[in-house]
Amino acid sequence: MGKPGALEAEGMGQPVSDELGAHVSAAGGVQRAPARAEEIASTVLQLFTKQPSRWAEPVISVEERDAFRAERGRACIATAVAHDSYLINLSSPDPALWERSLACFTGEISRAQALGLDFVVTHPGNATDGDPTSGIARNAEGVERALAEVTDGPVLLLELTAGSGTSVGGTFENLAAILGRLSPEAQSRVGFCFDTCHAYSAGYDLVRDYAGVFQAFDDVLGLDRLRLFHMNDSKGALGSKRDRHEHIGQGTLGAAPFRRLMEDERFLGVPKILETPKDDDPVAADLKNLHLLRSFRA
Ligand SMILES: [Zn+2]
Ligand SMILES: [Zn+2]
Repeated sequence: MGKPGALEAEGMGQPVSDELGAHVSAAGGVQRAPARAEEIASTVLQLFTKQPSRWAEPVISVEERDAFRAERGRACIATAVAHDSYLINLSSPDPALWERSLACFTGEISRAQALGLDFVVTHPGNATDGDPTSGIARNAEGVERALAEVTDGPVLLLELTAGSGTSVGGTFENLAAILGRLSPEAQSRVGFCFDTCHAYSAGYDLVRDYAGVFQAFDDVLGLDRLRLFHMNDSKGALGSKRDRHEHIGQGTLGAAPFRRLMEDERFLGVPKILETPKDDDPVAADLKNLHLLRSFRA
């Protein structure tokens, strides 16, 4: 198979019991995803519950739901996460787009609930009128309404974005402002996803000030609400606002901050998901990045 021996030892169908996983394809149906996590020796997965670049809102059938749950159990998936559609913009000043986004977002949460997923990750969207304060208010309103619509659902994770253009998710303060506008009931169902690529591109210097970045996170948001990492190196420079993911250790972040993250005892139980390039062979690409991350803890 042309892979180094260590990768084979971690091999197919033998999940490693750690908190590492990857975004895996749901092609052929969501029930196919757990086996794809298993192929990369993971018990953590992220998936799309629909085509992320289309508005169409599929409903999960009872058969799909049961098949997914059975496969999840068989593959011993400890944490399963949905990433929401790229089209959703709950910060939009356009009422029609906002309503459409809310319907789509509510669909994301209800599909995740049907499947029994742990988290839904969402990007806070863009205040395209250039007014982040009102964008944040619109975003919070959408989150509040969607969570009220789907009770007893997954925990919603607001993802730190790279902060490009009119994005409202590119600072810890903006994420705190969204959280702060929610009711206590909604707040109890909201946490944060820390994407290493986005953070660095947004200007948080994980390379030269790792401790300071997480101190700031703790001060503004609270580390107890950091429920998920997206483990991505970056093609963009510090503060570039570019959202281009790179293989671990091969981008502008380099290996060092990932080693620190893997060794950081505060984050041992926090799931960590790759969204690195899949190249021509998704399994080989993910296994290589996971192997590197696991080696930092050996
Ligand atoms: Zn991400
Ligand atoms: Zn990204």
